Amino acid sequence: MTVVKKAAVIGTGTMGPGMGAVLERAGVEVVLYDVSEEQLEKARPGVDLARSVLDRLGGEGNGSGGAELRFESDLAAALNGVDMVVEAVPEKLELKQQVFADFERHVSPETILASNTSGIPITKIAENLEHPERAIGTHWSNPPHLIPMIEIIPGERTSKEVTAATQELVRQIGYFPCTLKKEVPGFVENRVLYAIMRECLALVDEGVVDAEELDLNVKWGIGYKLAVVPPMALLDMAGLDIYNAVASYLNQDLSNEQGVSSTITDRVDQGKLGIKTGGGLFEYDADRAAQLQKERAAALVAVRKALS
Ligand code: NAD
Repeated sequence: MTVVKKAAVIGTGTMGPGMGAVLERAGVEVVLYDVSEEQLEKARPGVDLARSVLDRLGGEGNGSGGAELRFESDLAAALNGVDMVVEAVPEKLELKQQVFADFERHVSPETILASNTSGIPITKIAENLEHPERAIGTHWSNPPHLIPMIEIIPGERTSKEVTAATQELVRQIGYFPCTLKKEVPGFVENRVLYAIMRECLALVDEGVVDAEELDLNVKWGIGYKLAVVPPMALLDMAGLDIYNAVASYLNQDLSNEQGVSSTITDRVDQGKLGIKTGGGLFEYDADRAAQLQKERAAALVAVRKALS
């Protein structure tokens, strides 16, 4: 079974820097590569930020930490001698197929090729590979240096050895692997999240509750509770008879909207995309955005420590 001692992270946008810092902290030698020199430069402070959060978490990962992490603008050099490549390039099937084909030219047949895709089937990404048995999905959650769960998605042709080696790596970095038994769009995390988002938007759109009140309700109601008692355990805690009685009238009334709420599409059309454009559902100036980022990281660190 491949033991991952050296890994390349390909694509250093939102996800790559944090993923690299976590691997480094667990004692894996890491090379970060991006097709854009500018993005690679921007990744340096991103890695430093993730490292400072990992310092605050302390003691995560089973490795000794302090492995080498370097930035590389040449793909062949980045992939030289790696046991695993983790791709975090934009969510486009053709691009992912292309980068996987490029990887195969530079790595040994044993090197594991992992995709951070949020929902594209691994079988599709790997369909033209010479060795599709070494392709696998490793779906990290954002921010990757804080959320300690990684979905592992074997494709139809992924070998058991590659799945086992990937699970072992996830444990080695101190994260929880969740291995899917089959590929479904959105995998598990995004299916659950998008079901919640659809109902939340429907409640706001129908005027049942304001956006601020909705957030307050979810944060201090099910959000806080689910972090301690997750859904299957919550069913047992509440009583299956209660769930049965409520679900039998409520399920038929829940949103089954097939399209996307106009609350979202209208803002997207106006370029109001959220924090990154200064406004979305709420308004943000630069100071507020920076403050929120700090506060949220601190709260996630505290909650994770409390639950560990
Ligand atoms: P991003 O757009 O922020 O960054 C992508 C990076 O890839 C950019 O820096 C870009 O320059 C680089 N890139 C583009 N083509 C490349 C190539 N051929 N070779 C090397 N680098 C290339 O994207 P992101 O948000 O980090 O998402 C990356 C992947 O992770 C996507 O598949 C996405 O669905 C998934 N993902 C994202 C999130 C999230 O919240 N952003 C969460 C989980 C999974």
